[in-house]
Amino acid sequence: MKYHETTGYSFLLDENHFVYRYQEFDSELHIFIKSKPHSCQCPACGLESSKLHATYERVLQDTPIHCKKTFLHANVYKYECLNPECSSRVFTESLSFAKMSQVRTDALNSLILGVSMFLSNEGASRVLSLLGVQVSNDTIQRLYDRIEFADDPDIEAIGVDDVAIRKGQTYATAVYDLKDHHLVALLEGRDGQPFKEWLKKHKKVRLVARDRASAYASAINEILPDCVQVADRFHLLQNLIDRLKDIFKEELPPEIYIKDGAVLDKAPDKIWKEKNVDSAVLDQYSYDDTPPLEADGTETEFVSTKRRLDLPHYKRAAENRKKNRN
Ligand SMILES: [Zn+2]
Repeated sequence: MKYHETTGYSFLLDENHFVYRYQEFDSELHIFIKSKPHSCQCPACGLESSKLHATYERVLQDTPIHCKKTFLHANVYKYECLNPECSSRVFTESLSFAKMSQVRTDALNSLILGVSMFLSNEGASRVLSLLGVQVSNDTIQRLYDRIEFADDPDIEAIGVDDVAIRKGQTYATAVYDLKDHHLVALLEGRDGQPFKEWLKKHKKVRLVARDRASAYASAINEILPDCVQVADRFHLLQNLIDRLKDIFKEELPPEIYIKDGAVLDKAPDKIWKEKNVDSAVLDQYSYDDTPPLEADGTETEFVSTKRRLDLPHYKRAAENRKKNRN
């Protein structure tokens, strides 16, 4: 089998870009990439253009390689729009791996959001710096603030549930697409009012899987009375368990006393019984009370305070004492 050299990092990019150089330092890796001339769509009018206008460099931080901060220096093109009616004469090339005006690749933004999902912004910033990502906690917050939900006005089947934000301090209402479970909207509060407003703009909804909150049920009944409401097993079980807990609390006393297999009406009285020595039991045992004797007939002397100081652990303790004194 023969091994052929690949063009380095290029396989990670799209077909319109290639790597032509890289520089490696102790904690940083700089990868230089170049655009191939190709046609690009004008963002203003949508017309394809392959008329090159100029080149420029974008520096993007990428996902780290070997825990080194990794930067892409992208030499990319500006194109001229050939549509005489178009408002923009020149437009910049769009990259499939980084959105316009971003200083990080999409993959890196996903990594940052993924890590910070489980940590505070400050904690995530520190962990990411160990992994080779340079990002401040403010930037992480900005990334979160920029997340937008793609709303679909024609959506027909949704799920709705309340979610806790900031460790249960505040709540929100999450609306998601029942088909693929992607989030469609995150509404403030969980009293059903914002959900009602949302439903007014989404009259095509025919099916709602909802949690047991009655606020959502009444919002659906009011705005879309013909809509089918589905309660899932998780929420039904939760309902049942909550109801059972209430019943048990109401019906059962906090403590139940059982004696000889029967449930007592009240706590049994404590009966103090003095323990008498049963001499008949004692008489069953024979006990030799005479002191043990040495081989020469003298009484064996017991001195419980006397220690055998030649035992290893006493020796060790003495050595340690001597060491600590010095
Ligand atoms: Zn145009």
